[in-house]
Amino acid sequence: MGEASRTSEARRDAVFGRWVVFSPARSRRPTDLKSHNPTNPSPAPGAEAAPKPSCPFCAGRESECAPQIFRVPPEDALPWRIRVIENLYPALRRDVEPPEGGGGEAEAAELPGELAVRGFGFHDVVIETPRHDVRLWDLEAEGVREVLLAYAARVRQLGEHPAVKYVQVFKNHGASAGASMAHSHSQMLGTPFVPPSVKSRFNCMKEVFDKSGNCSLCEISSKDILISETPNFSAIVPFAASYPFEIWIIPRQHLSYFHEIDQDKVMHYKCFQATDMFPAGTRSWVSVEANAAKVV
Ligand SMILES: [Zn+2]
Ligand SMILES: [Zn+2]
Repeated sequence: MGEASRTSEARRDAVFGRWVVFSPARSRRPTDLKSHNPTNPSPAPGAEAAPKPSCPFCAGRESECAPQIFRVPPEDALPWRIRVIENLYPALRRDVEPPEGGGGEAEAAELPGELAVRGFGFHDVVIETPRHDVRLWDLEAEGVREVLLAYAARVRQLGEHPAVKYVQVFKNHGASAGASMAHSHSQMLGTPFVPPSVKSRFNCMKEVFDKSGNCSLCEISSKDILISETPNFSAIVPFAASYPFEIWIIPRQHLSYFHEIDQDKVMHYKCFQATDMFPAGTRSWVSVEANAAKVV
């Protein structure tokens, strides 16, 4: 395989305006999940306390992973609870030059139609626990909070890069959702473009604000089904849900950016417990804009 065919590339089509990342390296990543097995990817908590010998995300096997970005707690003398590392099989590469002009977005807007740009970007992994047998929703409330704060810290770091226009945090649960590792983890992508679906959400909220002066998330209507409420968050099924089990978790604090949220107001545990009832194959979850224009 030649060098050119191994390099990832982001392509935009001229019909939907959507960006698709083509990454030959992703197909070579190992997996410890049975393909398309719909059952839970990890054993029940407590069923298997020992590290799994073949899992590089387990405590004690850090040297087999791609470089670490930061860990929680930061002190090397203490056992880690969360590690944020580079993805060994990245969809986007941090070591290639960003698109001309420092960012792909403005340049891309000047060039309508089909477009291919070098696969610049950041692709990180958040290992949510050192234990192989613990899932995110098995953690205590404080453990979940720490994971969300780790997302926020990494979003802030990525947002400082002039070419990163958008950061998405996502978690694939189960092989049928695309997960390749059973050990509980999430991923973060920092891209030099804002996806059209996100731009469209910005534009829609801006239109509502310009006409009514209201924030459409703060004014969620009674047509939405309320699942859970806490002093800081509400979880709803949106009125026009587009897929089964779609849930929005909305902070009561009116903010434009996830990473600006007050640290003491981060996620209530119950919202996460709800996710345990979902079938494996669920994709989630947090979509975060960095450097994008504020809506209201
Ligand atoms: Zn593991
Ligand atoms: Zn609002």
